[in-house]
Amino acid sequence: MSATHRVHPNSNGTYRPVDPPDAILWDDCERCDEHATDALGLDRTKLRAAWDMMIAVETGGPVRVGGAEYRTANEARLGRLLYNVYVITQRLAR
Ligand SMILES: [Zn+2]
Repeated sequence: MSATHRVHPNSNGTYRPVDPPDAILWDDCERCDEHATDALGLDRTKLRAAWDMMIAVETGGPVRVGGAEYRTANEARLGRLLYNVYVITQRLAR
């Protein structure tokens, strides 16, 4: 709960070029690992971006951020978590 972010990539991506600088969550960061399984810990901006990315990836909805695929393992973990919430809300709405 109290972990801090490991240093993320510089804006030019030089620190960790395998992850895009505008990733919602990075890999190999303890705090981002936590957020990948605890969506309620995200601020509103990141939660919105993660939700929009999940809609694009999982449902073929409009791409608003990052393209129609997850770019880090933690984005994928968070996306699957949010997709489960999405499916549950769709089922209960019937
Ligand atoms: Zn982090």
